[in-house]
Amino acid sequence: MAASVAAAAGRLRRAIRRSPSWRGLRALSSEAPPTQAAAVRDAFLSFFRDRHGHRLVPSASVRPRGDPSLLFVNAGMNQFKPIFLGTVDPRSEMAGFRRVANSQKCVRAGGRHSDLEDVGRDLSHHTFFEMLGNWAFGGEYFKEEACSMAWELLTQVYGIPEDRLWVSYFGGDPKAGLGPDLESRDVWLNLGVPASRVLSFGPEENFWEMGDTGPCGPCTEIHYDLAGGAGAPQLVELWNLVFMQHNREADGSLQPLPQRHVDTGMGLERLVAVLQGRLSTYDTDLFSPLLDAIHQGCGAPPYSGRVGAADEGRIDTAYRVVADHIRTLSVCIADGVSPGMSGAPLVLRRILRRAVRFSTEVLQAPPGFLGSLVPVVVETLGDAYPELRRSSAQIASLVSEDEAAFLASLQRGRRVIERTLKRLGPSDVFPAEVAWSLSLSGNLGLPLDLVELMLEEKGVQLDTAGLERLAQEEAQHRALQAEPVQEQGLRLNVHALGELQRRGVSPTDDSPKYSYSLRPGGGYEFGTCEAQVLQLYTEDGTAVASVGDGQRCGLLLDKTNFYAEQGGQASDRGYLVLVGQQDVLFPVARAQVCGGFILHEVAAPERLRVGDQVQLHVDEAWRLSCMEKHTAIHLLNWALREALGPGTEQRGSHLNPERLRFDVATQAPLTPEQLRAVEVTVQKAVGRDEAVYMEEVALARTAHVPGLRSLDEVYPDPVRVVSVGVPVAHALDPASRAALHTSVELCCGTHLLRTGAIGDLVIIGEHQLVKGITRLLAVTGEQAQQAREVGQSLAREVEAAAARLSQGSRHVAEAHRLSKDIGRLTDAVDTATMPQWQRQELQAALKALQRRANTAVRKLEMGQAAQKTQELLQRHTEGPLIVDTVSTESLSMLVKVVRQLCKQAPSTSVLLLSPQPLGQVLCACQVAQSATPAFTAEAWALAVCSHMGGKAWGSRVVAQGTGSTADLEAALSAARAYALNQL
Ligand code: ATP
Ligand code: MG
Repeated sequence: MAASVAAAAGRLRRAIRRSPSWRGLRALSSEAPPTQAAAVRDAFLSFFRDRHGHRLVPSASVRPRGDPSLLFVNAGMNQFKPIFLGTVDPRSEMAGFRRVANSQKCVRAGGRHSDLEDVGRDLSHHTFFEMLGNWAFGGEYFKEEACSMAWELLTQVYGIPEDRLWVSYFGGDPKAGLGPDLESRDVWLNLGVPASRVLSFGPEENFWEMGDTGPCGPCTEIHYDLAGGAGAPQLVELWNLVFMQHNREADGSLQPLPQRHVDTGMGLERLVAVLQGRLSTYDTDLFSPLLDAIHQGCGAPPYSGRVGAADEGRIDTAYRVVADHIRTLSVCIADGVSPGMSGAPLVLRRILRRAVRFSTEVLQAPPGFLGSLVPVVVETLGDAYPELRRSSAQIASLVSEDEAAFLASLQRGRRVIERTLKRLGPSDVFPAEVAWSLSLSGNLGLPLDLVELMLEEKGVQLDTAGLERLAQEEAQHRALQAEPVQEQGLRLNVHALGELQRRGVSPTDDSPKYSYSLRPGGGYEFGTCEAQVLQLYTEDGTAVASVGDGQRCGLLLDKTNFYAEQGGQASDRGYLVLVGQQDVLFPVARAQVCGGFILHEVAAPERLRVGDQVQLHVDEAWRLSCMEKHTAIHLLNWALREALGPGTEQRGSHLNPERLRFDVATQAPLTPEQLRAVEVTVQKAVGRDEAVYMEEVALARTAHVPGLRSLDEVYPDPVRVVSVGVPVAHALDPASRAALHTSVELCCGTHLLRTGAIGDLVIIGEHQLVKGITRLLAVTGEQAQQAREVGQSLAREVEAAAARLSQGSRHVAEAHRLSKDIGRLTDAVDTATMPQWQRQELQAALKALQRRANTAVRKLEMGQAAQKTQELLQRHTEGPLIVDTVSTESLSMLVKVVRQLCKQAPSTSVLLLSPQPLGQVLCACQVAQSATPAFTAEAWALAVCSHMGGKAWGSRVVAQGTGSTADLEAALSAARAYALNQL
């Protein structure tokens, strides 16, 4: 019966997520106070503070601090994770938290909990939403209080009629040995909820786990019935109350937690919809100002709340997507996550681009529209989250800039698709290469799913197998770049070079690679470059007059703005178009220099001929990342000299958009102090946002400049000099001695114009390459900040572990857990992307902690074993046999007790059983020397454990095993019977 109700409710719930017909249902009377979103939020917080003594804490930033497993903060509990894990530093403020409430900014887009796909389609999921939550830590209160507080708030403060509320509880999981959570069920029944509205569900719905291991427990959910008695209930989940009471161990088993916690979360948007008598979160005052602004700004028909097939032209879907996404963008940018190239920034970039597309294509919004919505978001959310107000202007300008860039790409992308379609047969699939060249991983920066959508609209299928192959190739290429073993690529062979020289062809003019400038707003503007095709080569190096049909080829131009791989800087990538024909992209994968000629590696989807005029576009995000890394390498070089002395020599370096690598000649590995000092020196130069000067000068002028850095290389004449903070002329004046105090290098790389854009630099790895040469790996910018946060969070965990260790453990299980935690922490510190100096410090600290923890475990175990041994000896008079139960937490403890007993009573054979909380029984035994060989321990343990349906192992003298039984007495009798038979 219960199961069928549960199944029906499950179906209902699933159906409601996509229910197209929320309109037309009877809405709740609008008299219930409070109803305005701000008042609803306040009422929640004051209820928990004033009526139930909770401390209010601010929302954490949506950027997870030191938790690389998360892209965004996606629940109120994220910031309290250390409490649940027991790793909170006992001296920190958080360690004192008992009753806490807050309203947390949450983003569920990308990663494990992504609701991105639902947004726009349904009326209850957002990528950004506010989660109202209350917590009780360390058993401050538990199920009864948590449920009654929730019920009191919903029905008395918010005035929601009781008969519209349904609840669910955990119905148990026999496979995991978990019984139903009858406590929660009874709490609801006692609160007066009729049994017909109290449903039970399995672990999928009502058992909450933080990850593969760690705290977990049953949850109980409160749902609201939108139908309100008119027909079948239509439930929407309002509030989830989680009761953390187990720990999922690494071996998959569940152990009771030493401390129990309450963790709840309720979506503000859904609650407000209920209180405003609406059937959709979009019809509340959290969204209506945005929907109005969209209507005003686009001139589209007004929002009318339709979903699914009823939403003709997807107008209402577009309204919802744009309103949702601009909130997410604003909140994320205010918290320091901006649209970018990987991880959370990439997710944000996709969100922005999705919003642009819906606003321009469906709602016909004018360019720059999205940025104009930012003030509306700030108006609705700025009081609750003041950081939005502070960065309002910056958010708007970032959104507008990215919107403009995307619109330009989109327009080009559309033309490319149109043109490609013209040459496809009716049953052809869309070529993967073209889709790839349009995508984020290719050139135009259009998300692949968007390209697919654009094709879907045209009724064309994409060559997905081909696309997968390209994605794999790219992944391989990236892996190679991360540890660059030079892959060959297309090159000019001697014959080709000889032929060019014979024809008197001039080397490629690549000076346009340096033509970029800094906009007043801080962004870089890269020029394009027009050039003429001088020669084309097939993959095997044969010179040809034309290429096409998707052919990969080498392309020689009279000039280029592409940076060809040299001086340790990765090659540029990008695309070119034929002048006068903007709608075919020729992707350029890389550029290499051979004898002064720059060969571009190009894929030619259509005809390309010698003599053609082309326009070149460099992938700007890629290039900018290279520039940041290259200037960072110069600062690193200089900082190393500052830290290690003037004789410190660079031995090589390499950089790509992801990271940089620097080899330096050293007598000994760098100490943590030296590593740290190097980072501080770089950080200071970055903080000063110094100008970077670059100038070409006669090589002779650079000959006798003290401190000037150059590699053991042949430099061209004239040569480029890159100088940080001082103009080149001044730096080269030997009397100035400027190069002794700042970075001045001979270098042909492309550099930032100011150092500030580096953001930060963290050395994340250091090892001896060969004797006398140390290789450093470093990251910059956002990645560097993340590395620091990971480092800080691990340092806090180490401190917390040290504090736990100092407090001492009274129980073996607790000491064991601590020892295991230190082991896990050591693994995390060994492999995390974090500052290397901090890794070395933490590794040393953890080594000492691990030793202490192991000693503590041993001592406790010995003490406890001795005590249990004494108890058992007192219970049993001297005889040939002791068969009994004893409580221990682990098999190793049980073995210790058995061994001590036998030591003290050498002529006695001993078998002990130890029942565990979840029905498992541990077994250990030892037979007296005098009883062997007829009687063996292994056979004894096997007899008893197979009686309990388990297994055993060991030797003739000592053995152990496990089984599972509820009838211990029967197991003990079996053990005795077996032994008496043998003795
Ligand atoms: P659903 O099943 O509706 O997706 P959930 O099980 O993912 O919800 P929880 O992770 O338990 O939700 O989050 C707690 C509360 O946060 C939910 O009860 C709901 O009120 C709210 N919530 C969850 N996801 C969203 C979302 N994407 N948009 C708005 N509110 C949400
Ligand atoms: Mg969900």
